[in-house]
Amino acid sequence: MSTPENDSTPSFAELGLAAPILQAVQQAGYETPSPIQAQSIPPLLAGRDLLGQAQTGTGKTAAFALPLLSRIDLKNKATQMLVLAPTRELAIQVSEAIQSYARHLKDFHILPIYGGQSMGIQLRSLQRKPQVVVGTPGRILDHIRRGTLKLDKLEALVLDEADEMLRMGFIDDVETILKETPEKRQVALFSATMPGPIHRVAQKYLKDPVDVRIQSKTSTVTTINQRYWQVTGMHKLDALTRILEVEDFDGMIIFVRTKNATVELAEKLEARGYSASAINGDMNQALREKTIERMKKGSIDILIATDVAARGLDIERMSHVVNYDIPYDTESYVHRIGRTGRAGRKGEAILFVSPRETRMLSAIEKATRQVITKMQLPSSEDIADRRVLQFMEQLSETIEAQDLAYFETLISQYQQEHNADPIEIAAALAFLVQKDRPLKPVKHVTQRPAREERERGPRQDRGERPARGNREDRPPREKRAPRPHPNEPDMDTYRVEVGRADKIEPRNLVGAIANESGIESQFIGRITINEDHSLIDLPQGMPKDMFQQIRKVWVNNKQLNMSLATDEAVAESVAARPSRRNFSKDRKDGPKSKPAKKFKKS
Ligand code: AMP
Repeated sequence: MSTPENDSTPSFAELGLAAPILQAVQQAGYETPSPIQAQSIPPLLAGRDLLGQAQTGTGKTAAFALPLLSRIDLKNKATQMLVLAPTRELAIQVSEAIQSYARHLKDFHILPIYGGQSMGIQLRSLQRKPQVVVGTPGRILDHIRRGTLKLDKLEALVLDEADEMLRMGFIDDVETILKETPEKRQVALFSATMPGPIHRVAQKYLKDPVDVRIQSKTSTVTTINQRYWQVTGMHKLDALTRILEVEDFDGMIIFVRTKNATVELAEKLEARGYSASAINGDMNQALREKTIERMKKGSIDILIATDVAARGLDIERMSHVVNYDIPYDTESYVHRIGRTGRAGRKGEAILFVSPRETRMLSAIEKATRQVITKMQLPSSEDIADRRVLQFMEQLSETIEAQDLAYFETLISQYQQEHNADPIEIAAALAFLVQKDRPLKPVKHVTQRPAREERERGPRQDRGERPARGNREDRPPREKRAPRPHPNEPDMDTYRVEVGRADKIEPRNLVGAIANESGIESQFIGRITINEDHSLIDLPQGMPKDMFQQIRKVWVNNKQLNMSLATDEAVAESVAARPSRRNFSKDRKDGPKSKPAKKFKKS
């Protein structure tokens, strides 16, 4: 059989597809026909019946759609092609795929028909005379019986996932539909397995079919540790970024399905700070070789490749293979992961599997006779731990390997001039170095508006801000529920002698207190601004010296003169509620409704 490694695989252009169809395939970025396509397209173009044993993910939709669309007569308004699928989801998906392959066909109409959709809509759409209908057996039969779908001019019938249709009890409907079609129509039957009843249907209704089987040789790849991640919830790119953060990799190759995807993913990874490069069949040989050379030398660490481009690649430092898109057959999988574990070394293979692709996962396990273990994505704590470790290592390496004399002079000069604590200087430098790669888990972050950000002093640890664009890591924005008075558990209410009359706004208080005390602004609670004073909730158990320090702080030319608020003052403030302002309203995101911090009793 053909594999991507096998040079006998014909190109799409060599298969004899109609020009507009070929154009659509090229636009889709498909580089080379998958094995089932290479084997199915020529006989289907020639009008033969076909019995295909292949599962979802092998590219079987294009395997039947491309040749059958090439044979459609666009001037003929009759229904010429019917695809039967077991579920509404598959019917929609197949219909969308066919629509995309037919994008350059003028006056082409396709209609998905499935149970659950309004009959009225379907009847109206059928009046538009679709040349192709894709549907579930029950509803198709309904329309045939009503006379609203006529199959007397049908040229081709496709039974997609026939074993599923059998399992779901549709096989009788399928047979009835088959009997309604003209004697000379072409039939293509695809099934992942060939149970008896499907085999019988094939024998009865298919005429001298071409047998296409995407079989796999048994391969064992023992030095490679294989894991898979079930694609759920999180976007694949975000999952990949997490993996890149914690995996100890030297060189990595990431497999995607299309040429376009190689370029897109390479750009995205570069934007995230990785040295990545695409390698695909569009690049000329010289450029490909140059890219491979750069990988070997270590000037890039990640290659994003299609199967074709990675043919025979042998790079010793390739420690990881990531199957970002699942391959279409087990052979390709074996070939792909064989790019690592070269020369008896250990290698790591990671496979992304979407829920629809779990069958392919089982097929791969069967073919390789190896269990692929499920992996959990690294948590934000794992990522932070890893970053801390790398940070420490970098520090040691720099101390060991660099000539730091100039910087030592600079820092000791600073230390003397400012009478500063060396640890504090080092911490400030560490902050500067790591601010784009937070060392703390990012999930407890409250985002702060720019203004407040500017007002906050250098002692604040802003390292918790999540990387921009990484929505997964952003905490959900919290709306503050009205809080029971007098104050929250774990918080004390303080009175400060500045208020509306002094043109005080909550953010002035947050900025001043955060700067002076080192209390992170997210731990500053509710603020109530009154005419001549304000109330502010701060974590319980404030150390005396911190209290004294905040007491003396000046805001808008007035000293805070902070004191613990009396219960009366708090009650009074509640009574004057209209003037009460909730801190959270003044900040795009409120502080945590329940501060997690308490001062340690000293
Ligand atoms: P299917 O098995 O038909 O569900 O196809 C699985 C996926 O493979 C779909 O997302 C197709 O767009 C994609 N695909 C099909 N044929 C090719 C090809 N020759 N090259 C790259 N991707 C393909």
